[in-house]
Amino acid sequence: MAEISGDRLYDIIVVGGGIMGSCAAYEAAKLGKNVLLLEQFDLLHHLGSSHGESRTIRATYPEPYYPPMVLESFRLWETAQSAAGYRVLTPATQLDLGPADSLSLKSIIRNCSPDSLPAKEFDASADPAEVPGAFNIPGGWIAVSTAVAGIIKPTKSVAMFHSLALRHGAVLKDRAEVESIERSGGNIRISTADGRFFHGSKCVVTAGAWTRKLVKHVTGRDLPIQPLHTLIWYWKIKEGFEAEMTPASGFPTFGSYGVPFVYGTPAMEFPGLIKVALHAGWPCDPDRRDWTVGRDDAMFGGVADWIERVLPGRIETAGGPAMKQPCMYSMTPDEDFVIDFLGGEFGRDVVVAGGFSGHGFKMGPVVGRMVVEMAVEGQTATAARIGVEMGVFRMDRFEWRAKGNVKEFEEQVVSHD
Ligand SMILES: Cc1cc2nc3c(=O)[nH]c(=O)nc-3n(C[C@H](O)[C@H](O)[C@H](O)COP(=O)(O)OP(=O)(O)OC[C@H]3O[C@@H](n4cnc5c(N)ncnc54)[C@H](O)[C@@H]3O)c2cc1C
Repeated sequence: MAEISGDRLYDIIVVGGGIMGSCAAYEAAKLGKNVLLLEQFDLLHHLGSSHGESRTIRATYPEPYYPPMVLESFRLWETAQSAAGYRVLTPATQLDLGPADSLSLKSIIRNCSPDSLPAKEFDASADPAEVPGAFNIPGGWIAVSTAVAGIIKPTKSVAMFHSLALRHGAVLKDRAEVESIERSGGNIRISTADGRFFHGSKCVVTAGAWTRKLVKHVTGRDLPIQPLHTLIWYWKIKEGFEAEMTPASGFPTFGSYGVPFVYGTPAMEFPGLIKVALHAGWPCDPDRRDWTVGRDDAMFGGVADWIERVLPGRIETAGGPAMKQPCMYSMTPDEDFVIDFLGGEFGRDVVVAGGFSGHGFKMGPVVGRMVVEMAVEGQTATAARIGVEMGVFRMDRFEWRAKGNVKEFEEQVVSHD
């Protein structure tokens, strides 16, 4: 191994130890690369986007490029769990529902196929006993259930990928805030806020809500990735209904399109509570968060009404949610990811993956593999194999059109500016 100025020359340095960076570190280390992962806070902190108790994995998307990525990711989750020897993913059914004229739902159904993603459709005439979770489908609504889905434990998953990466020889350093990324001869020189330097042949930047700040500092380029402060809501299940709202009883993960856009998971992490949350948030500075949990009080009513319509009589709605937890989304204008080379003087030696827009966790393993392939090979064979055209994730799409990729269906996340 070459030494530079007393420093080790790493094959790949990963900046950011959330789900994306941790999966990338594991994938690179598994390839036999010398990997360094740098995280600004303590490992497994709760200040970014990859912490907490539950994330949904579902392959239902209105965009045609996400289902193959989720299917591949599902496979990689299984492989990682086998390697670790324990589970972080609890399988479930996914139920997507909403008004029959929702363009997103229509597109989701179009993207299902008997070969890759079999789907079962329901309308308001369905007997609730036949619908997963006994959801009540309101008049004029439709629902679609799919079996490639589940609940992932986020903090446990990040810890799993850290331990798998360590097992393959990766070096993990926390309390290491990357301040600059520079060219240094043919390599990359990274400096931290506390004055340390690291050298690598390649670099992968997975800085979550800090991606815009870091990329701007390094290149001057202003990527439109807007952090949003968001809150996860847990509601109390009425006595006697607790057991039937669990994954073991077949209660699904769910997404409800239209207004309000509501998503949730079965009762699992906090017995007697169920997650029913709004896909929404408030613009924030990731370094100056106010941690407020009351700004959304005015929104309880809409979700309480949704609960009484769709899951009547089983959840206490009168007092609002029983518990709230803060988190951050990193929104792009089109809600699509940014996965691209940094370009300029860095050419293909630095890869950036950010802007996961509140739906990236499930795809951590496949994104981790793709960015490592891009860093090592200059392109991703995985994307080519699963038929995903990476152009949709390029960062220069916002230069041609401020809104980015053209979509023929509704936006999902509401930003309360
Ligand atoms: C409430 C909520 C619910 C969600 N639900 C789902 C869901 O059901 N399904 C789903 O698929 N996705 C979901 N998501 C989205 C998903 O959690 C995120 O897309 C994903 O966690 C993003 O991971 P990341 O690694 O990009 O970012 P992060 O987890 O934020 O990781 C980035 C890391 O980089 C570090 N970092 C930043 N700058 C520097 C620096 N200069 N030097 C060193 N380190 C740095 C940060 O400290 C952080 O640890 C949800 C998100 C939230 C907030």
